[in-house]
Amino acid sequence: MSVIEEVKQKLDIVEVVGQYTTLKKAGRNLTALCPFHSEKNPSFFIYPEQQSWHCFGACNTGGDVFSFVMKKENIDFGEALRLLARRVGVTIPSRSGQEAKKDETEKLYQANEAAEQYFHNLLLNSPSAEQARNYLDSRGLSQKTVSDFQLGFSLNDWEALKKYLLEKGYTEDEIFEAGLIVKTDEGKTHDRFRNRLVFPIKDNRGRTTGFGARVLDDSLPKYVNSPQTPVFDKSGTLYAINLAAPAIRQQSQAVIVEGYMDVIAAHQNGFNNVIASMGTAVTEKQVSTIKRSARNMVLALDADEAGEEAMLRCVDYENTLDAEIRVIILPEGKDPDDVIREDTETWQHLLDGALPIVDYTFDMVTARLDLTTARDQSSAVNQLGPIILKIKDPVRKAHYVQKLARLTSQDVRTIEVALSQMKTTVAAKQPKPEEAERAVQPLFTHPIEEQCLALLLQHPELKNMEVELLPEYFENSENREIFIAWQKTGDSASLRENVDAALREHFDNLAGKSILATRIEERYNDYVLSLKREYNRSLERKKEAILALEAEMGGTPAELAKLEEQGIEPSQRLREVFAQKARRGRGEQRR
Ligand SMILES: [Zn+2]
Repeated sequence: MSVIEEVKQKLDIVEVVGQYTTLKKAGRNLTALCPFHSEKNPSFFIYPEQQSWHCFGACNTGGDVFSFVMKKENIDFGEALRLLARRVGVTIPSRSGQEAKKDETEKLYQANEAAEQYFHNLLLNSPSAEQARNYLDSRGLSQKTVSDFQLGFSLNDWEALKKYLLEKGYTEDEIFEAGLIVKTDEGKTHDRFRNRLVFPIKDNRGRTTGFGARVLDDSLPKYVNSPQTPVFDKSGTLYAINLAAPAIRQQSQAVIVEGYMDVIAAHQNGFNNVIASMGTAVTEKQVSTIKRSARNMVLALDADEAGEEAMLRCVDYENTLDAEIRVIILPEGKDPDDVIREDTETWQHLLDGALPIVDYTFDMVTARLDLTTARDQSSAVNQLGPIILKIKDPVRKAHYVQKLARLTSQDVRTIEVALSQMKTTVAAKQPKPEEAERAVQPLFTHPIEEQCLALLLQHPELKNMEVELLPEYFENSENREIFIAWQKTGDSASLRENVDAALREHFDNLAGKSILATRIEERYNDYVLSLKREYNRSLERKKEAILALEAEMGGTPAELAKLEEQGIEPSQRLREVFAQKARRGRGEQRR
């Protein structure tokens, strides 16, 4: 739970508003003379169940406890939050505390960048780097490529980088935190990267988060990477995402290879949508990152990696992406780097012929079997069944059921029966989707508001769209604040700086929330419409509650007219209630 949620939970809007104005019970709700405008009849209401307020009079606005205090005290969100937090005894990390933490990570990026420049400079100029330069020459890398990727070289020395960074003013702790030096059991430290070709690894904002480093001879280990640090998370990192993102977005396709050199060769030859996973298997986190820019993914795999296990995982990713993943199987013993350097056309040819992973898995499995025999037909169903069961899209699923039926010379019904028998075992192994969803729910309590904001933050182009989206549509104050900041600012980088420090965590969640990269404008429109609809509906419900109360207390057409004057439009049903009351009233008079 965020501190903001904690403050909200401990506060009662009735108590807070009660300190500013006298409240009167009105059924389940409370009413008061509006504290914001001058009036004789109360048109200001508090809804304890929703912890919200609304003025139906001149203000015609409402919100939650934060917006009330902001308006009443004429302060901004951060000030209101701190004021209310003090009242309920919740400690908000001070701005300076948060700034300090930010400064700390900022220091790590800077240390990495200083190291990057140091390594790059050595590669270009140091006599010790000659072997490294020769290696790059032999791989046909141009000066431009070496500079684009800021390749570097680390000296065969235990303390060269450490000394350099200490001289630059970094502390030993900072250098260690950045993963650039290693601590021995005796507590001594030395450089992590020695006598290696160095590949700086950057995040999608171009900040250097870590390094990969390769030996130039046969010594082991061949590769050394930065360890997990506050700024480097291997499982979520995609090498060259900073350089590839524009091409990935433009072509709506990301090609994923394994090695640094594969990526570099691809980019030098104009295949700019190529990135590398940081190990053999692509992770769910990486897929989520890619999904922000494109739905189509092509994996370049060695034949021996493309086992059924890996394919099963890929089907999960397809479900995440809501799109097909294709695979390229590389010629035996060759990397993408080799293929591209030999002949770019071969690489293009491989890309064009990339197979949907499920089809590929079918080929792979059936190639080993003799499908004229009953035993192998059954084996094909057993191996391919679990993969088909994982496919969420019903049309694609049916397609592969038919394909499997055809291949095994069975009818579709038989395959379906076999699959449904398997289903119980597969289902038992994994949490039900509803359970998984429930587990993440507390983070996103206003799903539409948050989906809508995530879209806005991740797709700046939406700012140009003409839609009626008002701050009031956001019931949640955090969301409303971020939306208001978005309305005021141009780019999302400065936007983050403009929101209150207490909102940054929420902001980062939204900016990093994985959302589909398709039908952006259409989905944005849909979200805006549902927010608007929900806003009007909730307004309607609030009004109804008031009118019902009026009716109970013997509301008359005159009173009704007065309410209407205040902007409370009664529904048809309530009009009838009033009309009935009026008739009964007249009847009583006549008697
Ligand atoms: Zn008012």
